[in-house]
Amino acid sequence: MSLRKKFNIAKNYLLNRFKACEFAITNACIAKCDFCDIWKQQPKVFVDKKKAELVINRLADFGVGHLTFTGGEPLLHPAVIDFVKLATKRSMHNAVLDAAPSLLMRGDILSKLEDSGCDLLSISFDSGDPATMEKSRKIPHIMDQMAEAMVKIKKTRIKAMASVLIWNNNYYHLEDVCKNAVNMGYDFISLNYPTFSKSQVYPLGGEAINFTKEDVIHGLEQGIKLHREGKYHIINSDISMQNIINYLRDPATVKYPCHGGRHVLFVDWFFDVRPCMQLPCVMGNMLTMKEKDFRREPCNDCNMSWYRDFSTLFQGFRSLPILFESLSKSGGIL
Ligand code: SF4
Repeated sequence: MSLRKKFNIAKNYLLNRFKACEFAITNACIAKCDFCDIWKQQPKVFVDKKKAELVINRLADFGVGHLTFTGGEPLLHPAVIDFVKLATKRSMHNAVLDAAPSLLMRGDILSKLEDSGCDLLSISFDSGDPATMEKSRKIPHIMDQMAEAMVKIKKTRIKAMASVLIWNNNYYHLEDVCKNAVNMGYDFISLNYPTFSKSQVYPLGGEAINFTKEDVIHGLEQGIKLHREGKYHIINSDISMQNIINYLRDPATVKYPCHGGRHVLFVDWFFDVRPCMQLPCVMGNMLTMKEKDFRREPCNDCNMSWYRDFSTLFQGFRSLPILFESLSKSGGIL
């Protein structure tokens, strides 16, 4: 990450106005994942380039220091490179999500992403087993494509993160999945906690994540152990994973509530701003909202990883150990 981006994050964090945002720039997707229904949505929407650029500028003005481009499949948007370039120009650390690695092999997209200042590619990685990956994402030869893409990514400055959902196929052998991801060349691993969402824009669920709380806890306990051993560069902090275990056992015992709508945000392809991908409520539209509109009481209604993990960084003195750990163990990814 460039010094300029680091400075921007530090400045906004110290001013207590730092925000991390997921911006979904399309609902079109190539994958047909077992645990997500976005690919079924009609009509397919791609954000208008000019309006999206206005949104990115406004997000930067309002203290967003980390911006994740998501979808659907953000790499299907014809202007994704321009969006990354603008995020970099506005000193925002940025990541692009990807579920279909073949998209990273198109022409010179990787060098364009690198030149635009893309910091991180976050690629879905559910299993080290090719047949399981093909079945869960419904993309033939996905592992071969991923291995090929990874060789190319390693020649750039972009970091690669395996985005591992804990699901009923891997919660009992998470270390194998992590080992496979690292062997393939991933720099980091993020663990995603299974959750059901009835959100109209972001429906999540399905049989693949329909397993018991105790099994999810078993997966998280392995995640904590692997993180402590430090072998696989897992970016989720112990404290955040323990926080989720507490939530699953008894929500009243949670020490780190979620700051969805205040420090973490979701902007959909209509530019509507929601506290997260889980809640159906719309806080306003990013084209018209003011910074003072990003106010919301802390929430404890679900265990969605990205929002809950980031939120542990905004809890006063209690966040200090997490902050130091994130900075030292993740090589500054946050
Ligand atoms: S706890 Fe869940 S529902 Fe509440 S704001 Fe955070 S992510 Fe959204």
